[in-house]
Order: sequence, then C-alpha cells, then structure tokens
Amino acid sequence: MKKIKRILSVLAHPDDESFGMGGTLALYSSQGVEVYLICATRGEVGEVEPEFLEGYSSKGELRESELRCAAEKLGIKEVMFLDYRDSGMQGSLENQHPEALAAQKIDEVAAKITTIIRRIKPQIVLTFDPVGGYHHPDHIATHDATILAFNAASSKDFSDGEEIFQPEKLYFHIFPKGFIRFMVNLLKLFRVDVNHFGRNKDIDLEMLAGDKDYPRHAIINYKNFAKIKDSASDCHASQLDFGTQSPNIITWFRKLTGGKDSFMQAFPEVTGSLKKKDLFL
Ligand SMILES: [Zn+2]
Repeated sequence: MKKIKRILSVLAHPDDESFGMGGTLALYSSQGVEVYLICATRGEVGEVEPEFLEGYSSKGELRESELRCAAEKLGIKEVMFLDYRDSGMQGSLENQHPEALAAQKIDEVAAKITTIIRRIKPQIVLTFDPVGGYHHPDHIATHDATILAFNAASSKDFSDGEEIFQPEKLYFHIFPKGFIRFMVNLLKLFRVDVNHFGRNKDIDLEMLAGDKDYPRHAIINYKNFAKIKDSASDCHASQLDFGTQSPNIITWFRKLTGGKDSFMQAFPEVTGSLKKKDLFL
C-alpha cells in the first residue's frame, strides 16, 4: 500500500497561510499530499473596515470564514483552531487579554499541538522562523510551541492517550533577507513607510532587513500554483486593503520572489549546506 504523505502547517492567524507558504501548500495538495493547518487564533485583533463585518457577529467569525475559503482553494484537508485570541503586536494592550496567545503558558499551547501531531501523523511539520517572520508575538509563540510539540510527539514522557509519533522533518518558512533589503530600498523610492508596513501597519521592514539571515535548505517552486495562492489570498478580503501603499503588494511580493518559498530545515539538524527542491526528501 502506498504511504499517505501528510504535511501539517502550524500558523497563528487566518491569512498567514495564504500570504506566507500558501503556494507550497497548494503545490503539495495538488500532488495528493494531505495538507493540514493549525491556526492558533482567529485574528481577532486585525484591522477590519466595518463593511466587511456585515453578516458576522465578530471579527473572529469573519476571519474564520475567510480562512475556510482560502483553505478550500489551497486544497487543505482540515483546518484546526487552537481557540486562542490574537495578541496584536509587541506592547499592545491586547497582549494582556487572558485568552491572548502571547499570554499563554507555552507548554500548554505545545501540548495541544502535540496531540494533533500524534493524531494526524504528518511526516512534515512547517511553522514560522524564530522571529515569526516579522516579530509578531503570536508568530513567535507559535514557532516556540511547535518546536516543543514536535519533540514531545515522539516522547513517551508526554502522555495524552494518543500513540507516540515521530514526524520526519521540521521546517521553518523563511524570508531571505537580501530580498527584504531589496524591497525596503524599492518601497522607499515610492515613499512607502517601511517601518509601519502592511494592512495593520505592524511590519517594520527596515528592522527585518537588519535581522540575521537563516539558512535556506529547501526552495520550493510553486510557480504553477501562484494563481491558486492569489485566489486564496483574495479570500482574505478584509485584510487585503493596503490603503495608499499598494493594492497589489501580495502579487508584487510573489513576482519578486519568483514563485518560490524558502525553508530552513530545523530537524533533522543540517550541518553544511543543503538545497532541496522537495520537503519530503
Ligand atoms: Zn499572522
């Protein structure tokens, strides 16, 4: 019997999947790989124009429905929420909300992810890089919890009634800093505020450009699935309006990255260089 291939992507907010590694997820789901997504929050703190909320009782409900639309486009088999609350950026009052992801004990968040890993049995687990892509506290918490969960899944010391399971590989989705530096210079030419970038003005591209670069161990070419990634991104209509900055910034990003996602392999640890074209290899 052919072994079923499975990928589990662990992210923080509705839209992280489409604006981030969506092309890679669409590529693998098209190949018959079962793709699962954990979304730790429902993006309750994102900025949303009032007209988008018509017909919804809350931002979280709206953003969950946007995520379900995107997941269908990307071919995601199951979306699982951890039911935490979006924390907003560092220093925001939302951080202190008792249900905020950033306010949780990391072991408790990890335990929920471990149980899901054991239930789904993915060979591949994907999450954010150590700075959560752009220093969002929820992204960093998700990264930290996923590492703990990945290790606990195969440990008999963690008992949750599920069978222990060892996934084969753990990857972090990374944004090559050379590309970000290029973007910063380009956006400055257009007089875009690179320190308060994005719909929620919470991305400091200039700071990111100065961050350390992570090794690129796998480069996944999803060029043939770029349109699917774009249509999944379109599902997140409430998050797509970048105001006067640039309406097509997502498309821009994709064109500039040439339809490729970069990943660092965290497990098994890599010594030396590695340039894979397939996450399963
Ligand atoms: Zn996010």
